[in-house]
Amino acid sequence: MATTTLPDATGHFGEFGGMFVPETLMTPLEELSKAYDEARADPAFQAELDHLLGDYCGRPTPLYFAEHWTEKLGGAKIYLKREDLLHTGAHKINNAIGQILLAKRLGKTRIIAETGAGQHGVATATVCARFGMECVVYMGAVDMERQALNVARMRLMGAEVRAVTAGQATLKEAVNEAMRDWVASFEHTHYILGSALGSHPFPMMVRDFHRVIGVESRRQILEKEGRLPDLLVACVGGGSNAIGLFHPFLDDENVRMVGVEAGGDGIVPERHAARFQGGKLGVLQGTKTWLLANDDGQIELTHSVSAGLDYAAIGPEHAYLQNIGRVEYTYATDAETLAAFRELAEVEGILPALESAHAMAYVSKIAPSLPKDSILIANLSGRGDKDVEQAAKYLLGDDS
Ligand SMILES: *Cc1c(COP(=O)(O)O)cnc(C)c1O
Repeated sequence: MATTTLPDATGHFGEFGGMFVPETLMTPLEELSKAYDEARADPAFQAELDHLLGDYCGRPTPLYFAEHWTEKLGGAKIYLKREDLLHTGAHKINNAIGQILLAKRLGKTRIIAETGAGQHGVATATVCARFGMECVVYMGAVDMERQALNVARMRLMGAEVRAVTAGQATLKEAVNEAMRDWVASFEHTHYILGSALGSHPFPMMVRDFHRVIGVESRRQILEKEGRLPDLLVACVGGGSNAIGLFHPFLDDENVRMVGVEAGGDGIVPERHAARFQGGKLGVLQGTKTWLLANDDGQIELTHSVSAGLDYAAIGPEHAYLQNIGRVEYTYATDAETLAAFRELAEVEGILPALESAHAMAYVSKIAPSLPKDSILIANLSGRGDKDVEQAAKYLLGDDS
């Protein structure tokens, strides 16, 4: 079985994880670890977090029985965990709200963050506005152009969005810039990292802030069905929504779990972002994990129709869970993802985020082969409003 007490004191999940950072970042990371350990045990911290998750973010999110999709696929009963109904439209606010409470506890007055598609940047700008903190979001110049709406959302809430033009001018370079800022600013600045990635304690802390997804799902399925599910499905970028759903079920050996990575145009170098398909063990941006690199160890380009899954490394706890065989990992291609996007829209009246649609593509594939009395929960990590233009272009041939 998986060890749910991990990581150890040095941030390791088996051989994965750790703290691969410049010496100068050890000070803020140790300060953060200590503050987090104290906060976790403090009922006042937990009470404030619960209050905000409820009244500000909209928790608990529904566990919705997708009756018509179930009927159409003709197999397992499909439940959707509706993280798409949260404030700002995705699970990311769970983590942003938890981390800003920690920042406040540490007496920090300024927040920095990185963002790819802009969803984590929006969640961070949102909580900064709510708590009256200065906010700087690093974003690749290429991503800023692709995600202009999210850039505007952040700016309207008072955040400064700084364009990063180095390298590919996307997420990886934005993370580098945020880390560089933090080295010079940590005395008054907290870095809200956006996924279960990076140096310890981030993978553990981000996971813990998202565990509420699995904790609620467990309670809700017991209420509705009187038993635990047979299968959990979630998409995996850095891995935060997936680990949030999976973690509270890891000790339940009859609950199968599948993580779905971005298969892009298929498993061809530089045309996908499925780290367990042809990836290797390495170190990137603070953590030892599975990543996409060439034979010289150079990080490879990645591609996905969904910007939120388009990253060369996977969170270290997923590398561990794959290694011990507790969680299975597969991928959905762009084409399969867009087909699932359309299916869910037409059958249930729900537009999923393209990230989440990867999980839906796997549901579409597997559900028909499962018995009718089996129960499946898929995490609908975000809503698809941000992806409407792109989906319309592919699915409707709409060039307007
Ligand atoms: C960012 C994002 C993801 C990918 O991030 P994880 O850390 O792997 O969860 C998935 N779904 C949505 C809607 C997102 O915005």
